[in-house]
Amino acid sequence: MTMLEADIPPKPPSDDITADSPTSPNLRYSKHIVLTTYPGQSGIDPVPLEWGAPDAKSRGPVVVSRSGPLLKRRNAMGAHGGSYSIYNALAIAAGDLEPDFRPDFRNSEPTFNFPSQPAWANKEKIVSMDPYGHDIVNQFSDLLNAGWDIRPTMAITRANMKLSEIGEAVRDGKLNVDGSIVVDSSGEVRVTKVAVEPVWYLPGVADRFGVDEATLRRTLFEHTGGSYPELITRPDLKVFLPPIGGLTVYIFGPPERVSDENVKLALRIHDECNGSDVFQSDICTCRPYLAFGIEEAIREAQNGGSGVVIYFRKEGRALGEVIKYLVYNARKRGGDTADKYFTRTENIAGVRDMRFQALMPDILHWLGIKKIDRMLSMSNMKHDAIVQSGIQIVERVPIPEEMIPSDSRVEIDAKINAGYFTTGRNYTMEELAEVRGRGWEKWEDVTH
Ligand SMILES: [Zn+2]
Repeated sequence: MTMLEADIPPKPPSDDITADSPTSPNLRYSKHIVLTTYPGQSGIDPVPLEWGAPDAKSRGPVVVSRSGPLLKRRNAMGAHGGSYSIYNALAIAAGDLEPDFRPDFRNSEPTFNFPSQPAWANKEKIVSMDPYGHDIVNQFSDLLNAGWDIRPTMAITRANMKLSEIGEAVRDGKLNVDGSIVVDSSGEVRVTKVAVEPVWYLPGVADRFGVDEATLRRTLFEHTGGSYPELITRPDLKVFLPPIGGLTVYIFGPPERVSDENVKLALRIHDECNGSDVFQSDICTCRPYLAFGIEEAIREAQNGGSGVVIYFRKEGRALGEVIKYLVYNARKRGGDTADKYFTRTENIAGVRDMRFQALMPDILHWLGIKKIDRMLSMSNMKHDAIVQSGIQIVERVPIPEEMIPSDSRVEIDAKINAGYFTTGRNYTMEELAEVRGRGWEKWEDVTH
């Protein structure tokens, strides 16, 4: 079988502006476009990649680049950078970046060496991130020195952060200045951060969702507009770097305590809600719960334990902001009551939630977490996914009543009715019909 190729269409006669331009695609790429590859095809020789192998070197590097000879050696599909892979392509198209650019990783190594965990070598415990993604430069220096394009998919750094709610908690005497975690009376906090890009081991991902691998691959292929044909033509490639957002771990206190079973761990899993998290919209409880989670994480660390907040880029229950705002409009125009809360989302998105927490526990296993003493979340889906993955949850801590914005009662009461954990009361559907959000009255005064 020969490589499936397509000739670049001839240039239109009028196209003389870019013909001799240094950014002309014909000068940057070979004359033939390789649309896909096949196993056993001449020259196709993927670098061995054994997911779940006992260490990074025997596991092998994730090679996803199509650059030069790597096209035949790659062992993974997709591209580095998650959704930002498209911006990377734009930078190359614009001539700002050479297609064969190789990063200089000097001094980029982690600020903390997380101790290796048994889960790193367990192909069932970690299926949605590369457990060695932070250590690429160290583990595969020989390949990097030889000019191979392999890249870290994780990065570990440290920072200071300042949140108005934490500043208030310090001023109100609810949090102490300890000089190490909370460094001063303004509420400045020291934090260790771990950024993670998604790297999917497809058999493991399929398994989590209870589907067969072929169904997962076909569905991913079809519903990315056919963007990744090797999902179909290369069943031997098992790893896919999907074009989606990743996650960030925020660790308060000494990072070595996170995996220490002998100290208490307070943990919040938070899914992105930009409108509330950053811009402090009051239609939901996201920012207040996030701030509460950070405060409790800091407190646990100050008490000799560990505090962790993990932020997942799954905007609007992974439906995105366009769908989210369409749902807001449908809610507000249709009489915004808690009994109809999920129906409004289902009408527009077809489902009430696309976050599918099945992959979420991977990062907990990567960190070496074996039990969570205080789980700062009411989500039954997050709870169930964590417990089913073998991590114990000792206590669940709901958001305090006084932190719930009045317009967000529609959301939180509907979620409680649907199974969210609460230590307060659970409303009936009849009662939910009485829980009403703010309407758009008086908005005419603002907009006209
Ligand atoms: Zn929200």
